[in-house]
Amino acid sequence: MIIIMKPNASLEAVEKVTSLIQSKGLQAHLSKGDEVTIVGVVGDKTKLQGSNIEISDGVDKIVNVTESYKLVNKKFHPESSVIPVGNTEIGPNTFTVMAGPCAIENHDQLIQSAYAVKKAGATFLRGGAYKPRTSPYSFQGLEEEGLKYMKEAREVTGLNIICEVTSLRAMETAVKYVDMLQIGARNMQNFELLKEVGKSGIPVLLKRGLAATIDEWLNAAEYIISEGNPNIVLCERGIRTYETATRNTLDISAIPVVRAKSHLPIIVDPSHATGVRVYVEPLSKAAVAVGADGLMIEVHPCPACAMSDGPQSLTFEQFDVLMEDLKPYVELAGRK
Ligand code: PEP
Ligand code: MN
Repeated sequence: MIIIMKPNASLEAVEKVTSLIQSKGLQAHLSKGDEVTIVGVVGDKTKLQGSNIEISDGVDKIVNVTESYKLVNKKFHPESSVIPVGNTEIGPNTFTVMAGPCAIENHDQLIQSAYAVKKAGATFLRGGAYKPRTSPYSFQGLEEEGLKYMKEAREVTGLNIICEVTSLRAMETAVKYVDMLQIGARNMQNFELLKEVGKSGIPVLLKRGLAATIDEWLNAAEYIISEGNPNIVLCERGIRTYETATRNTLDISAIPVVRAKSHLPIIVDPSHATGVRVYVEPLSKAAVAVGADGLMIEVHPCPACAMSDGPQSLTFEQFDVLMEDLKPYVELAGRK
């Protein structure tokens, strides 16, 4: 942390700041320029909480030089993490595809989807049992009944299963069924839920919030890891911008940026990023090219009949073609 003093700050003001820092057991390094004095702070900054240095006499501004997230930070853990989930691993040598319907609608829809995505090469079945819908009148999900279909799908196909949880109550039920919990965009900053998911120890897919910066997203991951759960995979799913041609804007640069800042794996969800079926294929290829560790794709036996997100869902045939088309890209990226 660096404290920049105002150009006219008095000697007393500078001394008051340095002695406050030292009184908390931290070191203060002074750098006196012709106009401005800068105080570098070394040590555990949390000890300064509540001391209100920013409003001390003569202080202009405070600049943080290290991020507030530590355990997910690459600086303190340079090797990329490999996250074990169910019968597989997500990380730098593999390319993981999670696919399935937006919502679990009924038994046959889910089981058919499971067989289809398995046949095409996915290793995870996705499907929402607790749906975070914009309108309270839209289909909210089958809850535990849906989770039972997910469990059956795992038994018959061997796929790993992932399901979003939107509350503590949903989480307590879902942990009995799933291999991986999903925290959706709308709950990325539901800090109480993040802490509980952290305590559960179950692998988590943490989606980026609708309008979250990358640092906010990594701080959300820090909530989970700081409760003792290091099994976190990030998912870029598009952010809100002024563009209306797509549902969201896929922040493709987030993948190399996250890679530079964190050791956690990151996958891409081109379905929610675009909201449009035909854009799923080019953005899936882009995701592989920029180094994503996998994809999450919405697939439905009849997108036109889907209870949610039909326009972005692929048919089984389209998903088959996509998986075939992706093969040379995944191979070129040196992944399996
Ligand atoms: C989902 O994956 O079903 C979902 C609701 O996604 P997001 O949280 O990214 O909107
Ligand atoms: Mn969806």
